Amino acid sequence: MSATQDKKLTDIVIDDLMIPSEKVAHVQLNNPLEHALLILVKSGYSAVPVLDSSYKLVGTIGKTRILNAVLGLERFETEKLSEMRVHEAMNTDIPRLSRSDSFMNGLKAVINYPFVCVADEEDYFDGILTRRVILKQLKRDYFTFKDST
Ligand code: AMP
Repeated sequence: MSATQDKKLTDIVIDDLMIPSEKVAHVQLNNPLEHALLILVKSGYSAVPVLDSSYKLVGTIGKTRILNAVLGLERFETEKLSEMRVHEAMNTDIPRLSRSDSFMNGLKAVINYPFVCVADEEDYFDGILTRRVILKQLKRDYFTFKDST
C-alpha cells in the first residue's frame, strides 16, 4: 500500500511523496560541465540537483544554464565543457522543502518549478518533489472524494 493511500491531502506531508535521494540523479560541484551534460542528456531530465562532497544541497543545474555558460559571441565554445565546473554554471537561487512540509506547501513550490529539492535543517539532501507527483495526488484525491460530499 502506498504511503498516501486513503490519506486526505491535509494529512499528507512531503516525505510521503518525494523521490528519495538514492533514486535521484545528481552531480557534484566540481564535476566538469561535460559530465553534467552527459547525465542530463542520458537521463532525459532537464535539470538535476547539485551536491557538495558531503552530500549537502547547493543548487541545481540544467541544460540551458550549461549551454549559456559555454555560449561565446558567435558559437558554442564546446571546449569549455571540459574546462568549466558545475559550480560556475549552477543555479543557487532555488526553493527548497523539508520532509515534514505540508502537501499545500509542496503544491505552492512546484507551481513555478517542475521539481523542488528536499533537504534537512543542515542542508543534507533528502530527495526531490516533482510537479508530476503533486498532480497525480490531486487527481487521486479528486476521484476518491468527489462523490462523498
Ligand atoms: P517528471 O515530473 O518525472 O517529468 O520530472 C520533472 C523533472 O524533475 C525532470 O525533468 C528532472 O529535472 C527532475 N527529476 C525527476 N525525476 C528525477 C530523478 N530520478 N533524478 C533526478 N532528477 C529528476
